Amino acid sequence: MIAKVIVDVPTSQTDRLFDYAVPKEWENVIQPGIRVVVPFGPRKIQGFVIDLEKESTLNKIKPIEDVLDVVPVLTQELLELGEWLSEQTLSFKLSAYQLMIPAAMRTKVKKEIVLLTERQNLPASLQNYFEPGKKTLWSDVILDQKANLKLVQELVREGLLEVRYQVEEKGHKKTARYIKLADPNVQLEEIPTRAAKQREIVDFLKESIEPISVQDLLKKLQTTRQVITALVKKGYIHEFEKEVYRDPLAGVQFEQTTPLPLTEQQQQVIEPILDSLVTKQHDTFLLHGVTGSGKTEVYLQAIDKALQLGREAIVLVPEISLTPQMVQRFKGRFGSKVAVLHSGLSMGEKYDEWRKILRKEVEVVVGARSAIFAPFTNVGIIIIDEEHETSYKQEENPKYHARDVAIFRGSYHQCPVILGSATPSLESYARAKKQVYQLLPLTTRVNQRAMPAVEVVDMREELRNGNRSMFSYTLLEMLKDRIEKGEQSVLFLNRRGYSTFVMCRDCGYVATCEHCDISLTYHRTQHSLKCHYCGHEEKMPNTCESCGSDHIRFFGSGTQKVEEELTRVLPTARVIRMDIDTTRRKGSHERLLSAFGRGEADILLGTQMIAKGLDFPKITLVGVLAADSMLHIPDFRSAERTFQLMEQVSGRAGRHDLEGKVIIQSYTPDHYSIELVKSHDYEHFFKMEMSQRKVALYPPYVFMVLINISHPELTKVITVSEKIASFLKREMQESTTTILGPVASPLARIKDRYRYQCMIKYRNEPRLLETLREIQQHFIRDMNQGQLQVSIDMHPYMFT
Ligand code: ADP
Ligand code: ZN
Ligand code: ZN
Repeated sequence: MIAKVIVDVPTSQTDRLFDYAVPKEWENVIQPGIRVVVPFGPRKIQGFVIDLEKESTLNKIKPIEDVLDVVPVLTQELLELGEWLSEQTLSFKLSAYQLMIPAAMRTKVKKEIVLLTERQNLPASLQNYFEPGKKTLWSDVILDQKANLKLVQELVREGLLEVRYQVEEKGHKKTARYIKLADPNVQLEEIPTRAAKQREIVDFLKESIEPISVQDLLKKLQTTRQVITALVKKGYIHEFEKEVYRDPLAGVQFEQTTPLPLTEQQQQVIEPILDSLVTKQHDTFLLHGVTGSGKTEVYLQAIDKALQLGREAIVLVPEISLTPQMVQRFKGRFGSKVAVLHSGLSMGEKYDEWRKILRKEVEVVVGARSAIFAPFTNVGIIIIDEEHETSYKQEENPKYHARDVAIFRGSYHQCPVILGSATPSLESYARAKKQVYQLLPLTTRVNQRAMPAVEVVDMREELRNGNRSMFSYTLLEMLKDRIEKGEQSVLFLNRRGYSTFVMCRDCGYVATCEHCDISLTYHRTQHSLKCHYCGHEEKMPNTCESCGSDHIRFFGSGTQKVEEELTRVLPTARVIRMDIDTTRRKGSHERLLSAFGRGEADILLGTQMIAKGLDFPKITLVGVLAADSMLHIPDFRSAERTFQLMEQVSGRAGRHDLEGKVIIQSYTPDHYSIELVKSHDYEHFFKMEMSQRKVALYPPYVFMVLINISHPELTKVITVSEKIASFLKREMQESTTTILGPVASPLARIKDRYRYQCMIKYRNEPRLLETLREIQQHFIRDMNQGQLQVSIDMHPYMFT
């Protein structure tokens, strides 16, 4: 017996099957989808068994040394999927397979065999390995006697034994030391100026909403334990033991729910889905339902049907909306049949959830992008909620889109795939119009609740009328009104393109990163400047580096600045701020939201992360501070994203009994992506945007490929880029394919590497993948030995 193995060496020379001999004792034990340890040159490395054959064409082959899994970790379907995925994304097969198994299994950890029965029930030859109160190491059992493996495999199948990775959580601690201010209103002046380090800590704590761990603080402020101890002694801060928050869902009780009687529209859209389920026919549905139209109830009832038919369900939601509120809806309906995969889980917890799927202890998985690889073997339905979200595209290799994987799996299992959104991506909607996908519209909110009224305020007008504040008169009046009435407001600030940069008022000099062509961002808490691309950090300068003037100030309005302004104009307002700074720690996202839900604040101020999933009855006002900040990003999808985001945000208002109102502040109020939010007219937006895309030749009218080339030397980048462009021009069909570039990337330098790009726009290019592979092959030596990077992104979403 010969095993065909993909080895764990991520280079293109090794991106193929290698032959290894299967030891006699392990014949019929080793199967495709199992991982093994094999000799590779002088080393021993891991590999995936992809296939088995009777004989090899080579005459000298080495034997497999060890076996990592007793049962396959990759099903036949996933093996095929990996092959397809690596082709489509031009990445290594190894990387594709590694995507599909939990990180815990990729580390070098010990495995143990756990007895799930009485020792006496085991065959005599195995009994001795299991002593009460002692761990049985896999290596002891298997390496001792190769033949043991077959026995163990059978016993695992019968449920008498289990093989488990001993996942040692790095830095796993149940509790940690935390500190907080003894008196939150302490005056900074009380601390002598010479104790600058102590002052810094107190200043930091005054600004943070919640306690911080000593460890985090030490790291953040680059300070020492002694400084903290000094402050504790003086009584300024308290130190205490606190449980470290791990799984944000741990301990949450889920209330049981039952199916709601569907509305007429819901009934209409669910029927074709159920048909497809029952007749086992693969169809892709685009469920286009306005916010609050009851899409989730449709998902739930469709899943229910799949489970009744003995099949499984995969549900993808964007990471950011994987909140307990969201999970409750699935757990509430299907209880312990649901596994949840989200980034808040530790490596061990993720592994546990994954094992539940593999062992068929659950029938539904709800998770972010990578949950699409759940190792179910009888998938009955796949749902992608908020299908337009760009986070479904992975930006690292393999650069796959979860939607494509969903459709591959749907077709493999002959089951329906549902893409749901209030604002579908143009690509999906266009496919629905061409009947590639089946369009299922939900046009009204459940119970006929009105869509919120949207008012667009022209900020240029405000300026002309002498209002220099970041809040228009209208918005300010409305905020006051809501506070008086005891209702809640949400203020949304678009983070992208809205960071705080530092500029000299005398000469216009802007502080930029010395390694990247990008301006540095001012961070108030540390009073420092940071590069968001490479992490470079420096002290906020006192004088201008260019002209020496001390009129150097920060500009722009990050959420911190908005918060300050807000407390200035509305001193009585209670504000909760949610941005990357206040939600960095695990669980804080959820804590802030529930505080808002309990009515502990009048205004929730935040970035993108508050756009989704918020569902609180008292929110009657949503304000968008600068709707157009995203419109000017060099990305052909900027109008689409603006419209999607505005719709998404306005969907937060008036979801319940109280009527909602939305104020959008804009400097380009006439742009269709903003104007059309007033009428919530997706269809109209789609038409306008499609005509733009047609003229400029962008997807969905063409497909795109982005090739990024980078190197520390500019001349090298240019030479390689030009070679690539001219090669493409020679190889591609001139009549229907356009090669753009090479040009410098919008971010022309990151981490001291110069960056260029070429773009391909094509309609039908049968030789495309082959040609791109050739490019990869051609530069392989330079890439392995030198500093060159050539990365290819099929159907790109990021153009920086
Ligand atoms: P969407 O996902 O389209 O934004 P939701 O699924 O969140 O909409 O539904 C909005 C609200 O309507 C939820 O509170 C949900 O419980 C409720 N709802 C959904 N379907 C029904 C129904 N058939 N009858 C009554 N209420 C419903
Ligand atoms: Zn930088
Ligand atoms: Zn200057």
